[in-house]
Amino acid sequence: MPDIKEITSLLQNLTDKDLALIQKAYTFAQKTHEGHLRKNNEPYFNHLFATAKNIAELGMGSTTIAAGFLHDSIEDVNVTPEEIRKEFGDEVLFLVEGVTKLGKIKYQGTTRYNESLRKLFVAMSQDIRVLIIKLCDRLHNMQTLDSVPNEKQLRIAKETLEIYAPIAYRLGIKKLQRDLEDLAFAYIFPEDFEKTKKILKAKKGEVEANLENFEKSLKKELAKNGVTNFSMDHRVKSLYSLYKKLQKYKGDVEAIYDISALRITLPEIADCYRVLGIIHGAWRPLPERIKDYIASPKLNGYRSIHTTIFTGDGAIVEVQIRTEEMHKEAEFGIASHISYKEGAKKKTTNPNLLWIKKILPEKRDKDLKSDGKGSSGDIPSWVKELVEYQKEAGDEFLDHAKSDFFEERIFVFTPKGDVIDLPKDSSIIDFAFAIHTDIGSHLSGAKVNGKFLSITSTLQNGDRVEIETKKNAKPSYKWLEFCKTTMAKRRINNYLDNFK
Ligand code: MN
Repeated sequence: MPDIKEITSLLQNLTDKDLALIQKAYTFAQKTHEGHLRKNNEPYFNHLFATAKNIAELGMGSTTIAAGFLHDSIEDVNVTPEEIRKEFGDEVLFLVEGVTKLGKIKYQGTTRYNESLRKLFVAMSQDIRVLIIKLCDRLHNMQTLDSVPNEKQLRIAKETLEIYAPIAYRLGIKKLQRDLEDLAFAYIFPEDFEKTKKILKAKKGEVEANLENFEKSLKKELAKNGVTNFSMDHRVKSLYSLYKKLQKYKGDVEAIYDISALRITLPEIADCYRVLGIIHGAWRPLPERIKDYIASPKLNGYRSIHTTIFTGDGAIVEVQIRTEEMHKEAEFGIASHISYKEGAKKKTTNPNLLWIKKILPEKRDKDLKSDGKGSSGDIPSWVKELVEYQKEAGDEFLDHAKSDFFEERIFVFTPKGDVIDLPKDSSIIDFAFAIHTDIGSHLSGAKVNGKFLSITSTLQNGDRVEIETKKNAKPSYKWLEFCKTTMAKRRINNYLDNFK
């Protein structure tokens, strides 16, 4: 039997209560899945253990880990919900039932695909931890995909690449995204996979040697400037992201400078800029490749400074500079914001991750209704919008979901500081309808960052928008041209149909 310490050793500040809960779930899963085998004749318990371990590796707490052990118990071995409630309480039951409802999703053409997305959005709108368990379950299924019949492999791998990996990306869980993509890549494009692997292998030796040389000089330079509190490591580009980049550069591997990058983590943001200054003082940077994602985070919340420099001995090296907090956030995304004391929201200083705070579970005990369901008050608007929309739409759902969900989002603020997230290129009209139908329907003007702008203006990430309404203002056909969201378009069409 796998050793439970493999899991508990990953947890910080483990309490006796946490340990008891994990131990209980471990034993319960072992007992209820006794004699239950996977397709490759391995004990099924190994899958439950691996899923729970994946969850622990993301830094999640004991409740989610316990639910990981139990996630297949209702579906596969007929444990009753009552039994789980009695042994583990409402919160664990809620998570297990959430994962069970996602069910054995099948990817077979558009209809099933839509169904999968629908279920995922509904799950996400209830409790984000359900989705994290599902992603960790999928990771282990991908790691053991060899034991599944050939015709099923391709379907599961495609679903992973097209649904699960983009969701991990959207939630900022880079570690999961990378693993899921590389595993799926091998099954979907086996020839390209082998080719990319070869390219990486051939190039890696040279790049790593450059990095090691540069690392020595850089450490000297930092010491000379009194910077001693830092850690340094290399990261190698994942196979799938190298493959995509090679496609972008028409196969020219020499044009890709970040196959391997040097990463420096420091305590404070000010330290990052200081180190950037030291590097640029000593080596010449490639001008177009200085990227300050600390000042302007990527839309999925990623923060770091990137610069690519000539090392002076003919090599070109990318350096990534960030704080400890940013590094954790970059690897674990939303999971890094659900602390080991689940329910306690951690503060983030990152404006692009503010929306995450909105979908984190509040103190569960307080919020749990008698039926064990979580509160639905804190769901970001795009999830609510999709859940509402999918009820009405048929097969169009896929297209809309793809453009609304997977495309980049912007985050816009109300005067009170509430965050409204919208698809990129949304206008003031979209913003007004996202707040309330009445506000959209009577929109007459708006101030953006203190300045009056036309209501058809496009909004930018981080804008602060103050809406003005007038009783006799009303939507017109022209407004439709300046809407990006399906919600605003539907509301306007409704208005135009009803009040001609
Ligand atoms: Mn499973």
